[in-house]
Amino acid sequence: MIRQRIADAALRAGRDPAAVRLVAVSKTKPAAAIAEALDCGQLIFGENYVQELVAKAAELPAGVCWHFIGNLQGNKVRQIAGLVDMIHSVDRISLAREIDRQWGALGKTCDILIEVNLASEATKGGTSRQALLDLVTEVAGLPHLRIKGLMTMPPFFDDPEAARPYFRALKGLAGEVEAAGIAGVEMGELSMGMSGDFEVAIAEGATLVRVGSALFGEREYQRR
Ligand SMILES: *Cc1c(COP(=O)(O)O)cnc(C)c1O
Repeated sequence: MIRQRIADAALRAGRDPAAVRLVAVSKTKPAAAIAEALDCGQLIFGENYVQELVAKAAELPAGVCWHFIGNLQGNKVRQIAGLVDMIHSVDRISLAREIDRQWGALGKTCDILIEVNLASEATKGGTSRQALLDLVTEVAGLPHLRIKGLMTMPPFFDDPEAARPYFRALKGLAGEVEAAGIAGVEMGELSMGMSGDFEVAIAEGATLVRVGSALFGEREYQRR
């Protein structure tokens, strides 16, 4: 079972298992599958698509903790304002400004992670590591956002060990941001690790692992 594997990986790394939270990635899976996982005690669900998230949230109890983990278009932010507890995929100032505006209109504050594209893959979102510090500095000035840490999605490898340097690099970047001492910026959360490599990510310091297919079964389409 995934929870046990997470706990074991944390203990092997000398970490408290409670310091690693499981984000159940439920994209493309029906609300019924989420309801079942809720019954089993799963708390956090990760979704990639705004329309899908909004539709499923309407079918499920109000207390579900939703994390948005996919590429997010500015013009869709309004639809998820106040609905999601964290956005993992903030990678540009224009998006951060729109989140700030929409949450601010509700009198609320949104927890966010800055996504870093460590391998500079054109098909993926995320800021470059060179641009990270400037982006964090700019986003930190927005009143209705709280920067909680970093997120990354390394290139796909068959061997999970191949992803390890990327996880280690993200942790290193979080240390650099922390050392910059920007007011209001926390680097406590590292969102990294998916079905194939979450144990390696935990060994490298992940606090949020995003696991989809290993929990819910394979999806109908190819991973992005
Ligand atoms: C789909 C997705 C996941 C989960 O992938 P699995 O390999 O099914 O665990 C994690 N993170 C992001 C950003 C995703 O899009």
